[in-house]
Amino acid sequence: MSESPPEFPATRCADCGLLYGHEAYICRECGSETFERAPLDGSGTVYARTTIRVPGSDHQGEEPFEVAIVDVGGEETVRVTVRIEENPELGPDDPVEFVDRRDGVFYFRAA
Ligand SMILES: [Zn+2]
Repeated sequence: MSESPPEFPATRCADCGLLYGHEAYICRECGSETFERAPLDGSGTVYARTTIRVPGSDHQGEEPFEVAIVDVGGEETVRVTVRIEENPELGPDDPVEFVDRRDGVFYFRAA
């Protein structure tokens, strides 16, 4: 057994309970501006993955790098766009785990 990954810092709308994997300022469901921390289990599965070879201006010089859409959480999940560290061969349904967040980017790796 490996150690559990760090908790994933999701947030939840305090009024309707909708879960967000990124900072939200106005709830798309109910319009509330009140959010609370809702940490999730940091394990997840890959939904889709791609290799970025022509990045936007914020990430020039880092290419190529791996970006994936990951469903993270346990009983409740959120779908987030993340960077994949180390293993470029991950595909749909492969297990991943949260590593950390740096410069606003979520990093995951193969679990
Ligand atoms: Zn809401």
